Amino acid sequence: MEQVKTRSATREQASAQFGRFFLPGPTEVRPEVLGAQAQPMIGHREDEMHALGAELQHRLKALFRTERSVFVGTCSATGFMEAAIRNGARRRVLALVNGAFSKRFHQIAAACGMEADALEVPWGQAHDPADVERALKAKPYDAVTVVHSETSTGVLNPLAEIAWVVRPFDDVMLLVDTVSSLAGAPVHTDEWRLDFVLTGSQKALALPPGLALGVASARLMERAAGLPNRGAYFDLIEHQKSVDKNELPNTPAISLLFALHAQLRAILEGEGLAQRWERHRQMAVLVWNWVDSLSSGRGVPLSILAPPGHRSPTVTCIRLPEGRTGPQVVAAMRGRGYTIGAGYGKLKNECIRIGHMGDHTAEEVEVLLEALEEELAG
Ligand SMILES: *Cc1c(COP(=O)(O)O)cnc(C)c1O
Repeated sequence: MEQVKTRSATREQASAQFGRFFLPGPTEVRPEVLGAQAQPMIGHREDEMHALGAELQHRLKALFRTERSVFVGTCSATGFMEAAIRNGARRRVLALVNGAFSKRFHQIAAACGMEADALEVPWGQAHDPADVERALKAKPYDAVTVVHSETSTGVLNPLAEIAWVVRPFDDVMLLVDTVSSLAGAPVHTDEWRLDFVLTGSQKALALPPGLALGVASARLMERAAGLPNRGAYFDLIEHQKSVDKNELPNTPAISLLFALHAQLRAILEGEGLAQRWERHRQMAVLVWNWVDSLSSGRGVPLSILAPPGHRSPTVTCIRLPEGRTGPQVVAAMRGRGYTIGAGYGKLKNECIRIGHMGDHTAEEVEVLLEALEEELAG
């Protein structure tokens, strides 16, 4: 009994203090969205599911800017990275690698039996579409993987421009990870003619972890139908049959679907998608300007890993001055009541990352930066 009481007190405190959790995934979830999960179960082959499924499809299409069905998977985003490869790649994959998650895409392609080449640029840099075009001319590939917003480095790749150079190669599918961009930065699935666009629930969508979302082009689905190694759980042909009935292939995470429904309504009918993109841009600019002011004005040599023009509006990776480490600053901020991320993978010690995505506001980011300034310059 005692144990239960303590836990719920902590939870109340946490919800009273929304605006202190700036991890670049999972991100902070609003109490209303958490609460939406606490509804009674519905049968996943019953009318209630069909009604929920239809409402989700309608809004998910608006979110992805597509006319096509949006697949919902009960798995983390990595599951749909595998789905992208299994359904979209035939044999030769060119993986654009500029950080930890794009490296993971490359590894998944190899693990699925593909001949996977990496076109690598240093972590912190963005891909140049001209280099992508050159690589595609030099050797035949049938799929390209790219991560739009590299959450490990805070780099935003020029996705529309990359799509533009990939498009003339008829046989090449463009498989795109938008895990930390969709809902925080413009992504135009149909207009940019992307072949597979995937995201997860726990980043810019600000939902609890556990759902993957994805859209496949008609030509990708045609290719998928002829591929022998699509596997079972990530077979998009099966997903299509289910979504056509407003269902999911297996027993879905029904509680998460309730949360998704509540959040999509808030994003599309409450705030508005374009306004949401703008809010993310403003939060990012605040962080960038703060780094500039601290380094030029107060002599604290911080710098942003990503170059101007290629910075993600949802996450910033900041290089720390000599003598400070990522884990140390993260722990100190935790002591002040804030959660931020250390650098990811090999950048763990040199950097910190601030996830300014999801449902955070510019005001909350300002308060966080004041605390961080006290820590670093105080
Ligand atoms: C978090 C993340 C992933 C992996 O997501 P999981 O839900 O942990 O599988 C993939 N790509 C990017 C860009 C991410 O930020």
